[in-house]
Amino acid sequence: MGNGSCKLIIHGGAGRLEGKVATKEQYRLGLCEALGPAYETLCEKGARAGVMHAIRLLESDPIFNAGTGSKLQRDGRVRMSAALMDSEDAVFSGVINIYDVEHPIEVAHSLRDESHHVLSGSEATEYARRKGFGFHDPITMARFIEYRKALRSREKFGTVGAVAVDEKGIVAAGTSTGGVGHEIPGRVSDSASVAGTFADSAGGVSCTGKGEHIINQAVAAQVVSRLRDNIPLKRILTELMKEGASRKHEFGLISLDRNGKFGVRSTRRSISVLYALKDSQHELNFTDGGRNLIL
Ligand code: ASP
Repeated sequence: MGNGSCKLIIHGGAGRLEGKVATKEQYRLGLCEALGPAYETLCEKGARAGVMHAIRLLESDPIFNAGTGSKLQRDGRVRMSAALMDSEDAVFSGVINIYDVEHPIEVAHSLRDESHHVLSGSEATEYARRKGFGFHDPITMARFIEYRKALRSREKFGTVGAVAVDEKGIVAAGTSTGGVGHEIPGRVSDSASVAGTFADSAGGVSCTGKGEHIINQAVAAQVVSRLRDNIPLKRILTELMKEGASRKHEFGLISLDRNGKFGVRSTRRSISVLYALKDSQHELNFTDGGRNLIL
């Protein structure tokens, strides 16, 4: 497989909503370090493998709110959610509120082969153990300190995600999150739902921002279903963000359509998605690509 038409876009959450564990430059570097290797995997092994590689790298980087470095919930524990979908077999698989694993996205991936594709809580964690995923404590000192300063961390979000199209035209999308921080234990995020992560042959989307808002607008599934109706990505995103802004919603997204058009948008100027993208002609990130990007 060559890399002529491979396209990859990844995100590291929603700008100022990320919390204070790293600087903008550190987020940029973290994204750029994941982008190159994941792009190679995409071109060699296809869209799903590229998305998985990107998310695994971002889950391992402690500055991002996913996997190691996830935010703590109100009871001081980390519960993570992740999901994956691609257009090859159109299976959505995910884990909700899983704990003590290193890579929630890998557990989500493993659920593709089961008869039930989404598991939550202790049962998701037990499933991971049965599948050989070892114990891993994702809590970092920086997140623990952030948790202790409860007021400052409240209402800050963060997540990682990736959307890819490979040379065969297969689209894949994945998202992984530690949640919003200080949430009621047991809260269900948008990330492991079709509102936060969706892909089919028309396109793929990964969202970030306030999960409740993303679910209210069924964002990812709605974008893809409008793409299926042949509405241009730019128009879809403009309408959706306008609606979100009018409802005072706070979220953003990364997306790719079947023609390889990239889209990054958010409902508010203050929520700029931290993203990086690559294809054979471009390599851009949020510091040079602008807030509302259609490429
Ligand atoms: N959407 C995630 C959630 O609500 C958080 C985020 O993307 O920042 O759990």
